[in-house]
Amino acid sequence: MTIPTIPQTIDETREAFASGRTVPLKWRREQLRAMGTMLSESAERIEQAVVEDLGKNSAEAHLTEVRAVSMEVSLLLRNLKSWTKTRRVRSSALMGTSRASVQRQPLGTVLIIGPWNYPLHLMLMPLAGAIAAGNSVVLKPSEMAPACSALLAELVPQYLDRDAIQVVEGGVDETTELLEHAWDHIFYTGNGAVGSIVLKAAAEHLTPVTLELGGKSPLWIDSSVSIKKAARSIAWGKFTNCGQTCVAPDYVLATADVGAELADEVSKAIEEFYGTDPRQSKDYGRIINERHAERLAGLLDDGDSTSGQVVTGGVADVAAKYVAPTVLLDVAPDAAVMQDEIFGPILPIVIVDGPDAAIDFINARPKPLALYAYTRQRKTRKAFEARTSSGGLTFNTSVVQLSVAKLPFGGVGASGMGAYHGEASVETFSHDRSILRKTRGLDFTPVVRPPYGRRKTQAITGRKVVGGRKTH
Ligand code: NAD
Repeated sequence: MTIPTIPQTIDETREAFASGRTVPLKWRREQLRAMGTMLSESAERIEQAVVEDLGKNSAEAHLTEVRAVSMEVSLLLRNLKSWTKTRRVRSSALMGTSRASVQRQPLGTVLIIGPWNYPLHLMLMPLAGAIAAGNSVVLKPSEMAPACSALLAELVPQYLDRDAIQVVEGGVDETTELLEHAWDHIFYTGNGAVGSIVLKAAAEHLTPVTLELGGKSPLWIDSSVSIKKAARSIAWGKFTNCGQTCVAPDYVLATADVGAELADEVSKAIEEFYGTDPRQSKDYGRIINERHAERLAGLLDDGDSTSGQVVTGGVADVAAKYVAPTVLLDVAPDAAVMQDEIFGPILPIVIVDGPDAAIDFINARPKPLALYAYTRQRKTRKAFEARTSSGGLTFNTSVVQLSVAKLPFGGVGASGMGAYHGEASVETFSHDRSILRKTRGLDFTPVVRPPYGRRKTQAITGRKVVGGRKTH
């Protein structure tokens, strides 16, 4: 079998959209149902591919890559009709007899580019939304998760409309070529540096984009919550997928006493989850590749006194792509680990004076994708709501906010633009077209037409006109 060139693939998906067959709800339903079948019939192969790429437990792989996407597909199927229908809205009194409505239309042919950390989830979740909105799609999975990329390229043509939904495998060269073409929308998930490349390329064709980026997601915790329980919740959010989660808590802000207690409790939670030697645990994953493992090992071994005290972990084996779950206490804001998104299993705790200092610390840095506060203090909760900006704000839990389908998921500022999940996905991949129809007569009230004599000027401006021109 010969692999089609990128221009051929784009032409085919464009023709599929131009044929009009992706627009009826029947096609969208069939494709979403086929996605559901693909996920259930291929669940074990999906788990295997994720385990091969990320070395994590297959149950965790099932949860994030199969279960989460199946739930989204079911949600879209249940709500397809209501989320895609044309809505009547009130017309203006000026229009006289008329009807106004908003028609939700597909955008056309969209490009979805994904990263390696949840390699199938981050392709299939936006794909479900793009299908629900009636688009044709080209998927570009990450080359850094090759088993998942190959599986996607095999399964998509097997289950879905072969012309309307296609996969292009490859790395930077292929993505660069894809980005040279005009699209009706580009949906990119990954780091901000490439996000900027995507945005520049899209600007050439005035293509709208969604950028699902990352960055450092801070977490504030105070003594109004059970530190022991919070530590289990934080440890799960941080060390799942070896910290390679865009919304994983990146670092903790706490007062000295709370920080010390939390460091101790998170260390205990690590032992509960992964035993005394996480390296031997079948439930603890690996870093995606040696380059990233080396980067993380460098953060552990930067020979810098600002990096704080290693409470647990602190070791890495780059060749084995292993980085121990690590807690660092009393880390200075200028430490290396506090500069860029960690995207690995290292949890620094920075000591601050209180919630106001934590908010100042957060606001002095780029807007986060996720912001967490573990607190039962109403005043603190209100302060976080009123005085911070982030993609999402979550109280007293971490990472699981993504499973609330009614909550749009996306960043703000440096953490991204646009959102998806549930109805937000349908909105992202649709254009809401305004339709106005005069039901009787062809024009609206003659008062707006020139010439503007005194009477008309008075009617338009609401001011009394003295000695104006006579109305014709
Ligand atoms: P990655 O390296 O796999 O890159 C993402 C995609 O960009 C890939 O398909 C890749 O082929 C392409 N790409 C890479 N370099 C390119 C270049 N120079 N030109 C054109 N295309 C290029 O993944 P990554 O960026 O390392 O992913 C991790 C980042 O993604 C983290 O910052 C994380 O926070 C973020 N992320 C965000 C979300 C979210 O939903 N907001 C989800 C997951 C990950």
